[in-house]
Amino acid sequence: MKSMWVDAEARQFSGDLALRVFTSRLLGRDKSLVLHGGGNTSVKIIEKNAFGEDEELLYVKGSGWDLEKIEAAGFSPVRLDYLRRLAQLPSLPDPQMVNELVTHMTVATAPVPSVEAILHAILPYKFVDHTHADAVLTVTNTADGEARVREIYGDRVVVIPYVMPGFDLARLCAERFPAESGPDTIGMVLLNHGIFSFGSTAKESYERMIVLVGMAEDYLRERGAWEMSAAAARPAKAGTRAELAQLRNRLSSAAGTPVVMKRHADEKYLAFAQRDDIASISQQGPATPDHVIRTKRLPMVGQDADAYAEAYRRYFAELEPLAKDRKTILDTAPRIILDSDLGMCTVGRTAKDATIVAELFDHTIDVILRATALGGYRALTAKDIFDVEYWDLEQAKLRKGGKPPVFTGEVALVTGAASGIGKACVEALLARGAAVVGVDLNPNIESLYARPDYLGIQCDLTSEGTIGQLLERTAETFGGLDMLVLNAGIFPGGCRIDSLKTEEWQRVMRVNLDSNMILMRETHPLLKLAPRGGRVVVIGSKNVPAPGPGAAAYSASKAALNQLARVAALEWGSDGIRINSLHPNAVFDTGIWTEDVLAARAKHYGLTVEEYKKNNVLRTEVTSRDVAELAAEMCGPLFAKTTAAQVPVDGGNDRVI
Ligand code: ZN
Repeated sequence: MKSMWVDAEARQFSGDLALRVFTSRLLGRDKSLVLHGGGNTSVKIIEKNAFGEDEELLYVKGSGWDLEKIEAAGFSPVRLDYLRRLAQLPSLPDPQMVNELVTHMTVATAPVPSVEAILHAILPYKFVDHTHADAVLTVTNTADGEARVREIYGDRVVVIPYVMPGFDLARLCAERFPAESGPDTIGMVLLNHGIFSFGSTAKESYERMIVLVGMAEDYLRERGAWEMSAAAARPAKAGTRAELAQLRNRLSSAAGTPVVMKRHADEKYLAFAQRDDIASISQQGPATPDHVIRTKRLPMVGQDADAYAEAYRRYFAELEPLAKDRKTILDTAPRIILDSDLGMCTVGRTAKDATIVAELFDHTIDVILRATALGGYRALTAKDIFDVEYWDLEQAKLRKGGKPPVFTGEVALVTGAASGIGKACVEALLARGAAVVGVDLNPNIESLYARPDYLGIQCDLTSEGTIGQLLERTAETFGGLDMLVLNAGIFPGGCRIDSLKTEEWQRVMRVNLDSNMILMRETHPLLKLAPRGGRVVVIGSKNVPAPGPGAAAYSASKAALNQLARVAALEWGSDGIRINSLHPNAVFDTGIWTEDVLAARAKHYGLTVEEYKKNNVLRTEVTSRDVAELAAEMCGPLFAKTTAAQVPVDGGNDRVI
């Protein structure tokens, strides 16, 4: 483990708080030290108050901030003498402790201070760093963890037995630390939780953390418990989209709300899931209370979708009397499934949640494997896990959360999504909480958004094999499919029937009609398993009810697609799948309509560009966004009782009316 301190970089940060920001980010950069908002840091600073008096403040990491990206505003200034007094109280319920922290800040708009604030306050050093380092957790999460910690560190650290985070832990440290620290003390290890380092400068405190964690790594390395090879005995099962969708469907119905499920079939997860001792080593509990809160209890290890769903259902039934409402239950449900064929599947209310769970458990696997190699992984007891899960602070957080967006936990696929109406549909669906797969011929589709709830796939929809691969990736990334927006299509240049080439006619049919039929056929098994029922939206055209001369292939292809949608509505209604069409016209903010083309068309009709754009009954411009918003609404509760509808979105067209 190497220090990432660089003098030249550090010089850009002047002052104690700025340097606190700098070394906090250094800790945050190393995922083996802190992950996803885990860990916290502080600095003690004297400032003048409104009366011109000196006041000692603890700037401690505020909740909701991640060390890697923290700014000065992410630290909450709390009056230090008050915190030290609190630490002397015999007891203090945690919600009241949080209230005391918040009401003793000097900046009203600062974030809520970390629940570990009092612990930072009682350590008599200017800078304090706290991480949940993998190497330290590995050593402490063994049967003789405490003895090993003492063997590694001697009197360099004070060792604190496991107590749940919160006031009781701070109080225990306030008692133990002064009694047990000596001249060589540079840190404090909290068994089954993490490690603290401290110092008089930001650099000293940070580098002591690196030294201490490095000692744990060396200890593991020397005992052959560091480098872990992962070779799966059997390859990952392929072609599992129906199986994954089935599993997600069962988990969603057990949870009472749709969930996103991500499959991770890399060698590491597969090898872990295929271990003979997986049923025991995976069931020992998370490595630190911080992970309990995020990954929730234990992974499920089982046989098939039915077994997992049954475990899930049993789990809910067990929790029902304890939880205040369904949402609370979901938030405490297991999030990880280990399967010898599938690898690891992580479950979340959103794609982001499922991603975070995967990253945390990735580190947990390292900890478990290394601790097992060291002699046996032993984590928190079931009671300790339960206490953290049902910590009143966590429960309060859950209750505070407002109503989630309408498509939270659902998955949509949009074709022709790199620009225009398709891109606007992706945005409208993301804004409503869905995880979205965007498909396009244009390779830009892959980098359209960098966020965990978006997957861009470059794909030629006229190839049947490609469609299969596309749906495999969709199911592996998000667990299934709930909504399909058929938008991709081509509009070739005007050509009258008497000179229409066969190949041109067939090309338009292939893209606008055939590929949509194949996509519908192939997505049907997934849409059928959508927890809230599948939905298909067809982006049709004004040309369906009102075709134009010179657009035979286009108009015929869209009309045929329209008829296909009507038949699908009849056939799929009993599967709970609804399909609706919308017919846009004259949407000019798309790729094909350059300013030159617009100007030429306007001139052709003897209109200005402005008049041409609004050449409809309502004299209004129709944008991609207008079409996309309607498409998204058609997937929502407003259209829950509607299938086979055709809705124009064209500002009113006298030929259609
Ligand atoms: Zn901690």
